[in-house]
Amino acid sequence: MTATDEDLVLDGNAVAGTLAEIYGDDMTTVLAECASCGQVDPIGGLIAYVHAPGIVLRCTACSTVMIRIVQTTKRTLVDVRGKRIPAPPTTT
Ligand SMILES: [Zn+2]
Repeated sequence: MTATDEDLVLDGNAVAGTLAEIYGDDMTTVLAECASCGQVDPIGGLIAYVHAPGIVLRCTACSTVMIRIVQTTKRTLVDVRGKRIPAPPTTT
């Protein structure tokens, strides 16, 4: 891994603002359970990749994708894979 790659790896707090826009609330303290290995972490503690493209939040234990956010000019797509994470409000 190069230094450049490491610069792209953040934690869930880095996308707190984006999540708050989507859910209308602070999501960083909401617990997320990995659908793959059962690891439970607050969303703010997940591993975030913000240049994926879009935003990807991964499990800290097994790197399974828990949340994927893709923002287009027309709408925001949220793909929730992890357990315990509330489904995003429906946006039209
Ligand atoms: Zn996991």
